Amino acid sequence: MDINIPSNHPRAKSLYVRELLVRGFKNGLVAPEGLIAQGRGESFDYLLGEKTSKVAQISARAASSALLLAKCPVLSVNGNVAALCSNEIVDLSNIVNAPIEVNLFYRNNNRERAIEKQLKESGAKIVLGVGSRASAIIPELQSERRRVDPNGLYKADTVLIPLEDGDRAKAFVNMGKTVIAIDLNPLSRTARSAQITIVDNIIRAIPRMIAAAKQLMDKNNKHLMERLVKEFDNRENLLESLRLIQGGIGARPRRY
Ligand code: ATP
Repeated sequence: MDINIPSNHPRAKSLYVRELLVRGFKNGLVAPEGLIAQGRGESFDYLLGEKTSKVAQISARAASSALLLAKCPVLSVNGNVAALCSNEIVDLSNIVNAPIEVNLFYRNNNRERAIEKQLKESGAKIVLGVGSRASAIIPELQSERRRVDPNGLYKADTVLIPLEDGDRAKAFVNMGKTVIAIDLNPLSRTARSAQITIVDNIIRAIPRMIAAAKQLMDKNNKHLMERLVKEFDNRENLLESLRLIQGGIGARPRRY
């Protein structure tokens, strides 16, 4: 991809990710609001040192275990997710055997099709939730954001919902699903509603989940996976993530 950022720029990686989103916006994948959401995420990532914490690694392992143990797991994808890591999401979908569903806060047929196209170019065979497929309704929600695929998010027992809105996250929990969130903000309603929240940038979290899933599958140890899920304490995870962010705020600025 020809994104022109000087490789010796101190913030080259972060600028590259920004460019992926801007490109996604120009290609019709990302909503304007998605660009703002990325900015909110970036501020937390900055304070986390733009690296995966120990607790985020533990969360990723628990999340992969939950997906591998699930009877009917589904991975939810919105425009930001498709723009940032469509190849990785397709890899994860194949490894944990979970279909992908397009799930938009601002539903729009053109955007749904653009995301479907992007995912198919990344190798997805089936993409749920597009057009008339999204005919089921999430109880408690109003407007277009309540529509989901009856064969996907609606009937799933375990859902991965990266960069999700708090109302929908809560509604999925209320529907009895195991909810796994990826959200850089440990204070968001999504992060607090989910049973497992990975407080990390999605561009690092999904590869971590893939690596963890491969390792767990090699061991083929159901008891280990059950233990990782059962012993996972999301409240403690969020508190530790907040402590790390507080550490980032308290760090003494060094001369640039
Ligand atoms: P909530 O409704 O859950 O309280 P919110 O209204 O603060 O969330 P939204 O705009 O609905 O936030 O969702 C965007 C969320 O995704 C934010 O919490 C933001 O920190 C997070 N986010 C944005 N970009 C990334 C990213 N690249 N990786 C992980 N998280 C991200």
